[in-house]
Amino acid sequence: MAYLTLKDINKIYPNGFHAVHDFNLEIEKGEFIVFVGPSGCGKSTTLRMIAGLEDISKGEFLIDGVRANEKGPKDRGIAMVFQSYALYPQMTVYDNLAFGLTLQGVDEDVIEEKVMNVAKILGLTDYLDRLPRALSGGQRQRVAVGRALIRKVGIFLMDEPLSNLDAKQRVTMRSEISQIHRGTKATTIYVTHDQTEAMTMADRIVVMKEGYIQQVGSPYELYFNPVNVFVAGFIGEPPMNFVRSTLKEGRIAVGGNTVDVSMKLSAEQLKKYEGKEIVFGYRPEAIVLGEQENAAVIRCSVELTELLGDNTNVYVDIDGIKGILKIDPHDTPEVDSDISFSIPNESIYLFDGETEMIIR
Ligand code: ATP
Repeated sequence: MAYLTLKDINKIYPNGFHAVHDFNLEIEKGEFIVFVGPSGCGKSTTLRMIAGLEDISKGEFLIDGVRANEKGPKDRGIAMVFQSYALYPQMTVYDNLAFGLTLQGVDEDVIEEKVMNVAKILGLTDYLDRLPRALSGGQRQRVAVGRALIRKVGIFLMDEPLSNLDAKQRVTMRSEISQIHRGTKATTIYVTHDQTEAMTMADRIVVMKEGYIQQVGSPYELYFNPVNVFVAGFIGEPPMNFVRSTLKEGRIAVGGNTVDVSMKLSAEQLKKYEGKEIVFGYRPEAIVLGEQENAAVIRCSVELTELLGDNTNVYVDIDGIKGILKIDPHDTPEVDSDISFSIPNESIYLFDGETEMIIR
């Protein structure tokens, strides 16, 4: 049986707003789960229901097979790291780390051992005497993580813990949190709106939109097998390019280009979608410059190029339709030049124009 079970969980706030709809998920012990989605999609609300900080309006939450809906936050064996670190400003790093254990009346010697241990894991040993205001953002963040870690709980919840850090610190803390997880094996649920954090840290990602789960899967599954336009566009950077077009005899128009998509569709699907709108999707990084066999060949003009070092983003115009290509910087084309690129058949995604679900 799963360690954590969320069964048909709903949240309706007192003002009547339905923030989370029929959320179903089973989480195994030791998993690192990331909830990801745009602002307001219900990630924090779901996490807060798991933490016991928000009532569950409908549905059931089980910890180790036991209903936990009515349990208070303290009785759930959960530690939480919030977006704002919520450190005690007048206490040293040592005291901040020790605080929870001191409250519980744990022996001083035991506290010291635990604090030193956590400080070592997090690289805070040299800062134990400092006040939070004398720490960098990244160090403060580590203290906040340390305070949760020291409690040795089974479930670790984090709500956008890296949002106050600069880009470089975020990358460092991302791998630190992953390493800590590897070391502690605490079941972790991590909330972020950043798909890169989700992709790099998660065992499984839960993509949410407007209170509904869109897809649950490994980073690999979500990247290569998105179930709908939303997930396909949310996972991957720069995002997947989409073109809406009407299917006619197995072909669609992408600007002035005719693209044969018949090999992606069964005879039945070809019939079903004849004359209907479909969404043609391709990832910026899944293209090859030039005209290739077994590929959709697109002619376009180059509007802008951005050299990023390891690659160049090329912004193209396909007869009025915009697209982004990600290419080797050595192949960067001239702005205003006309180029061709090919999308290998296996890298073409087709979605139903109406439901926006993948056509499989
Ligand atoms: P963010 O990334 O911006 O934190 P989120 O995905 O975590 O977004 P939630 O904070 O879970 O989103 O909010 C989900 C929806 O519920 C939002 O539309 C929000 O305005 C609404 N909401 C949150 N708290 C309340 C509340 N106390 N009463 C009514 N509506 C609320």
